[in-house]
Amino acid sequence: MDREEWMYKISRASNDLAFLGHVRKFVAAAKKHRVSLGRERIICPCNSCKNNLVQEDNVVQSHLIRHGFVKDTPSGSITVKKQIQV
Ligand SMILES: [Zn+2]
Repeated sequence: MDREEWMYKISRASNDLAFLGHVRKFVAAAKKHRVSLGRERIICPCNSCKNNLVQEDNVVQSHLIRHGFVKDTPSGSITVKKQIQV
């Protein structure tokens, strides 16, 4: 499945194990990216932070589970892609 597809089409219900797995993978990839840049926190792409705030790994994970990925922001999707491409 295409990465963008799961981000925006899968229900963000917290009991959706597939979504949960994807979120974990995203956070793991983002963490790797963060470490490679020598940063301490990740830009949070959740629907609440909307790529405007940096959060710790576990906070980003819980935000994504709770709020889902932010939609319809070109810069946001670029940030997400950047963080995924490790
Ligand atoms: Zn957030």
